[in-house]
Amino acid sequence: ILNSDKTVLIPDKNALCPMAAMLPAELVQLYREKYPSSKVVLYINTLAEAKAYCDAVCTSANSAEIMNRMDAKTILFGPDWNLAQYAKDYTDKTLVSIPKFGFCPVHMLFNKEAILSLKKIHPDAEVLAHPECPPEICEVADFVGSTSKIYRQALVSKSRKFIVATEVGLIHRLKKGRNDVVFIPAYEEAVCAHMKLHTLEKVYLSLKHMRYEVTVPPKIMTLARNAVDVMLNTRETLS
Ligand code: SF4
Repeated sequence: ILNSDKTVLIPDKNALCPMAAMLPAELVQLYREKYPSSKVVLYINTLAEAKAYCDAVCTSANSAEIMNRMDAKTILFGPDWNLAQYAKDYTDKTLVSIPKFGFCPVHMLFNKEAILSLKKIHPDAEVLAHPECPPEICEVADFVGSTSKIYRQALVSKSRKFIVATEVGLIHRLKKGRNDVVFIPAYEEAVCAHMKLHTLEKVYLSLKHMRYEVTVPPKIMTLARNAVDVMLNTRETLS
């Protein structure tokens, strides 16, 4: 969408995001008809076809900022219900979740009691959570933020121990950034099976055989790019 002149390959065609699949473009259109004076803001983890029917794309780091920039009182937001709950605290817009309850299956695996038990064992640990986690998980976290914000927090925090409530793969990156502290997964099985389909071997084969090329129909590409540009332009204005 952003680099139409480049070749984009996906190492495993079966790697889909189940959360993105919860919001087909047809559903976005249906909600638009139901709420004609609203604006549609979609999380970046959505299908290209769904992006084509939204007014702006956002990330977990800037969802509220993008909503606040929209010229409408009601925002149709999707697909992540949990991210909408988190963003509500930072906007006075009326949020309507589309679909009614979209979610990331990986972030739904965390359990509040289990995190509180870990906190008892490691009272000096700081709990870092992604806003795709349910509200009760965010409530017991010391810090809630996007992947990039969690990373930055781990770099600047004085804590020596962190309990991490997001896809466990992030811990690898966190350890590379700080090898002098301890990172404890809030749940060791919080693994995205879809992301893990992209193995090193498949990346190698993908490059070797130039497979499998990702293509986006030109009309979808143009519309989706416009929605992403709204976010990028907002970011420039904010910074
Ligand atoms: S962790 Fe997996 S299921 Fe969850 S948002 Fe990311 S790609 Fe989608």
